[in-house]
Amino acid sequence: MKNEKLILGIDVGGTTIKFGVVNKNKILSEISLPTYAYENPKKVLSQVESGVKQIFSKYSNKDFLGIGIGFPGVVDPKTGIVTSAPNFANWKRVEVRKSLSKFNLPIFIDNDANCAALGELYFGRGMKLSNFVMVTLGTGVGGGIILDKKLFRGESGGAGEIGHITIDYSGPNCKCGKKGCVEAYAGNSYIKQRTINKLHEYPDSLILELINHDLDKIEPKVINDAAQKGDVLAIKILKETGFYIGIGLANIANILDIKHFIIGGGISQAGSVLLGAIENSIKEHGVKNIVKDVKVYSAKLKNRAGILGAASLVLSNLK
Ligand SMILES: [Zn+2]
Repeated sequence: MKNEKLILGIDVGGTTIKFGVVNKNKILSEISLPTYAYENPKKVLSQVESGVKQIFSKYSNKDFLGIGIGFPGVVDPKTGIVTSAPNFANWKRVEVRKSLSKFNLPIFIDNDANCAALGELYFGRGMKLSNFVMVTLGTGVGGGIILDKKLFRGESGGAGEIGHITIDYSGPNCKCGKKGCVEAYAGNSYIKQRTINKLHEYPDSLILELINHDLDKIEPKVINDAAQKGDVLAIKILKETGFYIGIGLANIANILDIKHFIIGGGISQAGSVLLGAIENSIKEHGVKNIVKDVKVYSAKLKNRAGILGAASLVLSNLK
């Protein structure tokens, strides 16, 4: 039985690579190694290899169905090449899959947002859904589209670039080079900047207390914590962020007639304030008949999303 076998899920992040031995929806054991993304691709690949070796020193590779790798970059799942990775030094067309071929297992690789969508489909909030869109909020805003219980990759594997849907063609600059993308409102650094810009209007905001008046320390967790304690500015920032994200998602709903959206990543843990604002905004901006019963959920996998998402890549390819 395929399901009895183990899967090695590898979640490559900008600072840490996590390796997890997965059986069904459980992570049996887990290790982490530094990524050294600021060095060079060779160093990163040797870290990945060294983690896999450590795992296979405790388990036999015969017990494994395959290896799944989630990577924060532009990935060609057919060739196993990571074309570009914005937070990795000197990264250009790197053959990630080939570097692990010595382990004699099927290896699948995809970008981290697609893996997150598959993780929710196989193990999380999306298990009972046929069609949904997953949005991951963080430094960037990523997305994965599930149609008929399958990941929709598009012609070149690039589908789901939700962060770069234009919601205002004369809006703020996005780091992709365009203006007014969803990410230019909902990416962590942009949320931070909007918070800083408004703090002088809210000198009593709890945010200032939580960061000890050091503006560098503003991050999603601080805004979430302040909002949960009723801080007016934090709630305002979350509602605005949800409003902007919802405009982007309304466009997706209009095109695909999608009713279910799953939101993951740091700031999504804020819960109902952000999720409610996203849902209201989709309903306000989408075609009425399509969006009237739209539902926005928080992701279920949370800190297990990376490893279980990578592992589900194997299930989706081998089933
Ligand atoms: Zn953009």
